[in-house]
Amino acid sequence: MKETLKKYFRMNRLPHIWCPGCGNGIVVGALVRAIDKLGLNPDKTSIISGIGCSSRSSGYLNFDTVHTAHGRALTFATGLKLARPDLNVIVLTGDGDATAIGGNHFIHAARRNIDLTTIVFNNNIYGMTGGQYSPLTPTHSKATTSPYGHIENPFDITELARASGASYVARGTTYHTWELINLIADAISHKGFSVVEAITACPISFGRQNKLGNAPAMMKWQKENTISVKAASKLPAEQLAGKVVIGELYRRQAPEYTAEYQKVIDRVTGGNGQ
Ligand code: SF4
Ligand code: MG
Repeated sequence: MKETLKKYFRMNRLPHIWCPGCGNGIVVGALVRAIDKLGLNPDKTSIISGIGCSSRSSGYLNFDTVHTAHGRALTFATGLKLARPDLNVIVLTGDGDATAIGGNHFIHAARRNIDLTTIVFNNNIYGMTGGQYSPLTPTHSKATTSPYGHIENPFDITELARASGASYVARGTTYHTWELINLIADAISHKGFSVVEAITACPISFGRQNKLGNAPAMMKWQKENTISVKAASKLPAEQLAGKVVIGELYRRQAPEYTAEYQKVIDRVTGGNGQ
């Protein structure tokens, strides 16, 4: 375990800044286990993050990483992947970072089907900036910007990703850790834009305001309110009300952006281009 830690983490940057009970570490743990499982070369793997509690992850990971501007991780990642299509490029982002400030980048990266893996840490709130509601905050929830209850409807980010053109879409939770590892590994292996929504507990900025209890209570919610894709497929729609479906939700093979771009370069240069 110690060797694994040394291999994948910048030990001089630890301990991390996350609150006790925060689920972010579980998602990052799942990511490094997925990378380890796939045997990815760390020198060929880059991790790009935006801004927020989850995006602090890039600073702890012992890869080539970029901690970018709020909502812009996918733009940096797109540039990197175009310049170096040989790299595995993984984007770490939060619900606010990915779907509000970075919402436009998210839908267009999906539309292009560029070969990036995006892990959305969904804790239903802006944690770091003070507990404001995000586009993934459930209706009626309390946030510092909705003290009387949130009146907007949240996105389903998996549906948004699929409708925008992502070719691999999955959802996991920090309670179902082993499944999360496998979903992230499958997402990284997939050629094209892949998205994993990782439902994670923020006991401080979301849990407290909504009286959801401590971190174990919030993880118990993940256990009791989710259902696997397989189990869900056997139930009529009315019995799925209120349940969150987890697992691989969508996969298709489709032309990938950097490969298509290279074809254009080859056509224009007669095969002599870079
Ligand atoms: Fe985690 Fe929430 Fe604390 Fe941020 S505010 S570190 S998401 S528990
Ligand atoms: Mg968040």
